[in-house]
Amino acid sequence: MRTRVGIIGAGPAGLLLALLLRRSGIDAVVLERRSRSHCESRVRAGVLEQGTADTLAAAGAGERMLAEGHVHQGIELRFGGAGHRIAFEDLVPGRAITVYGQQEVVKDLIAANLAAGVEIRFEADDVAVHGIDGAPHLTFGGERLDCDFIAGCDGFHGVSRASVPPERLRVFAKTYPFAWLGVLADVAPSAAELIYAASERGFSLHSMRSDRVSRFYLQVPPETRPEDWTHEAIWAELKARHETVPGFTLRTGPVRAVDVAAMRSFVVEPMRFGRLFLAGDAAHIVPPTGAKGLNLAVADVRVLARALEDHYRSGDDAGLDAYSAACLRRVWRVQHFSAWMTSLLHAFGPQENGEAGFDRRLQRARLEGVVRSRAQATVLAENYVGLPYEDT
Ligand SMILES: Cc1cc2nc3c(=O)[nH]c(=O)nc-3n(C[C@H](O)[C@H](O)[C@H](O)COP(=O)(O)OP(=O)(O)OC[C@H]3O[C@@H](n4cnc5c(N)ncnc54)[C@H](O)[C@@H]3O)c2cc1C
Repeated sequence: MRTRVGIIGAGPAGLLLALLLRRSGIDAVVLERRSRSHCESRVRAGVLEQGTADTLAAAGAGERMLAEGHVHQGIELRFGGAGHRIAFEDLVPGRAITVYGQQEVVKDLIAANLAAGVEIRFEADDVAVHGIDGAPHLTFGGERLDCDFIAGCDGFHGVSRASVPPERLRVFAKTYPFAWLGVLADVAPSAAELIYAASERGFSLHSMRSDRVSRFYLQVPPETRPEDWTHEAIWAELKARHETVPGFTLRTGPVRAVDVAAMRSFVVEPMRFGRLFLAGDAAHIVPPTGAKGLNLAVADVRVLARALEDHYRSGDDAGLDAYSAACLRRVWRVQHFSAWMTSLLHAFGPQENGEAGFDRRLQRARLEGVVRSRAQATVLAENYVGLPYEDT
């Protein structure tokens, strides 16, 4: 087989790249290890930045998102017995977030790619990367795919980054002393917007996937397993962390799924190795507090698609040469925001005396600053709805 761009991974990054290239008349083939139904049912992120929603719509994969997604004009920070709304419509007019599950984004992207004639090989076994400095090709399940470029969009545990000799990359990483217990429940959201609750018991997030499905997260110890928590214990803890303002009652209902997500920050530099380009989680991981993982994958892919278009249209490789630096500028700003939100909202130590108590009081002062200073609230809002793209 031969194509121009061999893409590893049918997550948001790989699928969007294939679609954008297709729209520009550039052939690509996507190799995905898992089945189509597995990819379409993985519950992960659900907050789309303004630019992500616009990009999906412009690529022709936004029809259902525009009909079924919910546009939110703000989020609530809840601490100290009160809720404080960060109002996007006031602070960053014209920009908002769309709440729409990642599995729905993936379904829409797969459908749009197949309708446009893109070949996606699901259940491709043993994908391996070869010839990144000369004649790039991928092997899988006894077959061979020759290509001009390889896009490694295969997530944090994929093969593309692992196929780069270690001396050619630099890794920057940080792990947090807690994890998130994710809970998907068949119950209507208890509020119209997301609630980031910083309580003495730890952080908790009230989110949603639709009018009938809520998504929650609880800060838990890092070694936690989903089976450690009964459904009763989950609801009791969610109530304890959210019912901290007068008149708020958390709705409860059947729990559909419980998962645990590690909290880590990770960046690999550079993001290009010869003819191999890394994009999305293959190159970087953010803690989910800022809701940025999927959005950052989309931002990378926009840069890569445009650079490949320039290469094929006019032989101009300036975009390809600048790819890594252009992506990393945004990656590090988003890393900063995600780490900042994480440190702002999670419980890191006791409330009492001493150094840990001192740090908790500083944390509270930072929160007060965000909700009492328009300038600080604007910084949060403009990062949350998504930084402008450099290419627009
Ligand atoms: C468990 C989990 C929960 C998350 N929850 C949230 C959340 O609540 N909020 C949030 O904002 N973000 C969340 N994220 C982050 C967000 O989902 C990711 O940032 C986003 O999926 C990145 O998209 P991607 O396309 O780069 O990678 P992925 O979505 O990981 O896609 C990579 C694809 O490559 C495939 N693949 C991997 N290895 C191979 C191989 N060897 N050969 C072929 N194919 C391969 C995988 O099967 C997958 O389909 C979560 C991530 C994880 C892993």
